[in-house]
Amino acid sequence: MTISDWLRHAQGVLTETGCPDPGIDARWMAEDVLGMTRVDLKFEGDREVTPAQLTRLNGMLARRAAGEPVQYILERADFMGLIFHVDKRVLIPRQDTETLVEHALIELSQRGESRVLDLCTGSGCVGLSIASLAPLARVTLTDISRDALEVARMNAGRLSADVDIRHGDLYRAVGRRRFDLIVSNPPYIPHIQLADLQREVRHEPALALDGGRDGLDLYRRIAHEVPDHLNPGGAICLEVGIGEAPDVLALLRDALSPADSGAVRDLNGIERVVWARTRAGN
Ligand code: GLN
Repeated sequence: MTISDWLRHAQGVLTETGCPDPGIDARWMAEDVLGMTRVDLKFEGDREVTPAQLTRLNGMLARRAAGEPVQYILERADFMGLIFHVDKRVLIPRQDTETLVEHALIELSQRGESRVLDLCTGSGCVGLSIASLAPLARVTLTDISRDALEVARMNAGRLSADVDIRHGDLYRAVGRRRFDLIVSNPPYIPHIQLADLQREVRHEPALALDGGRDGLDLYRRIAHEVPDHLNPGGAICLEVGIGEAPDVLALLRDALSPADSGAVRDLNGIERVVWARTRAGN
């Protein structure tokens, strides 16, 4: 079987089994197993795949056809131009979340050396992108899941990011410490919607998705205690689910009486990030 034959076969199987991006997924698996780029695949499509490669390719194809996300199969996800290890212990980084990181980077660009806290870090994609892209940031990553923190630690090593990694339930992981910027992409799906999620998402950890009855449980807790963990002039930026921005902004305004606050839209025009900045001290 040639490379082109396999790609055609895989695309057919994935289309039949209802995968949303059959062509892309087939190509990613082939790139990974064959150690080739997208361009190589095009120009060397007539090459035969070896029996060992075919076994690996078909093993991946079977997992993908059964609904497992391609990022878990390849154990990697691209985010902010960086590569993260991912597996079923953590949520797969989403492009939407780049809006959160970009806003955090803008916030940091107006500051010198800053202490940054990433709550619910999961794979570490948010905090580690900040650590990699904002050299003056001193980043702490926390999560309630020890499994997730192992993945975050692996990613920190791979990216040579010098970060502090702490286990605990939200701020409990950091005691009484204060920060200049707090970021989080907490679980925010309303509990009742969990069952209706795409088949792929149901492979991801429920803990990373479940935001309680109305999706806002974690935001209430994050907002309630944020005054005890921000330095004067500090800011908080949170990713939110569709339609949640007004409620989460209200929670932050009630908790902080901020000097300034607002919402940022993602590339689809959805209010995706809310932020609030406290008054500077004298
Ligand atoms: N911070 C991680 C991410 O954005 C994990 C988020 C989560 O587990 N809710 O992907």
